[in-house]
This record gives sequence, C-alpha cells and structure tokens, in this order.
Amino acid sequence: MARRSTFMDKLSASMREANECWVWVGHKKPDGYGRLSINGRMKYAHRVAYEILVGPVPHGMELDHLCRNTSCVNPAHLEPVTHRENILRGVGMGGVNARKTHCKHGHEFTEDNTIILKSSGWRICAICEKVRAKRRNESPRAREQKRLYAQRPDIRERIRLYNQRPDVKARFAELARGYRAAKKQAKIGEIK
Ligand SMILES: [Zn+2]
Ligand SMILES: [Zn+2]
Repeated sequence: MARRSTFMDKLSASMREANECWVWVGHKKPDGYGRLSINGRMKYAHRVAYEILVGPVPHGMELDHLCRNTSCVNPAHLEPVTHRENILRGVGMGGVNARKTHCKHGHEFTEDNTIILKSSGWRICAICEKVRAKRRNESPRAREQKRLYAQRPDIRERIRLYNQRPDVKARFAELARGYRAAKKQAKIGEIK
C-alpha cells in the first residue's frame, strides 16, 4: 500500500528550476495559496517551505510573494515583510488604496492629510473626513436646507438676493443688536 505523501514529497514534486515558480502540487485554496494540515493544524505551504528551506519567518512578519503567484512555494520568491507593507504591495482593495496618491476628491495623501486605520491599514483623506464629520454633526434643519437648495437652485438664488436687499440687511443688523443686548443683560443679571 502506498504511504500518504508527506509535505517533503509534495515540495519536491513542486520544485522546478531555482528561479522559476514552484507551483504547489497539493491542495490549494480558491485564492491560489497552497494549504496543508500539519499535526492537525492548517498551514500555508509557502510558509512551511520557507521555514524548512530558509528558516523561521521573523515574528510578526508575513511572506510576500515577489512573483505575485500565490501558489508558488519557491523561497527565493518569498520575502518577509510587515502586514502593512504586504497590503501596500498587494493587488487587493487595500493595495490599490495604499498606492493612490490622491483621494477621490483630489486631495493629496500627504503625511498630514492621511489617517491610517489601525485595523486594516486603510488610508483616509483627513480633509474629506473633516467634511464628513461636519455633515454628521449638522442640524436636521441645516441638512434639510442643503437638500432643498440642491434640488432647487432657484430658491437658493432668491434667498441670496433677498438677503442682499438693504432693508433686509438693516433688519438683520437690528435683530443681532437686540440679541447681543439681551445676552449682555442676562449676564449682568447673573452677576447681581
Ligand atoms: Zn514564484
Ligand atoms: Zn479628500
């Protein structure tokens, strides 16, 4: 009876020329990564290959496939990098986001203008975040007004012209004076 093939059997079967990708011949996940069970624990084939042929992966580091072939277990194509660096180099959403130089509204991702989410390494534009935060804190009345103005630019224009009329301006100034005086009066009342 044939014995079950070991990791080393599969590794030797996967091995090709030194500089070529060694495509894992064993079980692969849909994303291409070779997986195998060692003492009942699922492990990445490329990681095990690296540990056996090169040595332990430094603590907290991940192995990046320099060849961009996730099924490859050739240690020459693997480099230990930080999780953040791996995301930066990656081809997924995080990698695409990390390589962008500007946000979708055209603000540059400078050091000052970049918020990095600790959980995912995802970058956020600080200028846009400030705008969003302001919008979140807006009063329902202000939000309603903004929506109305967006739908009806004619109303916005009419109100703008109305506010520019000298009699309206004078009336507003009068109201503001009254408000300030009332506030002052209230303060004096407090002191007494
Ligand atoms: Zn490779
Ligand atoms: Zn922005």
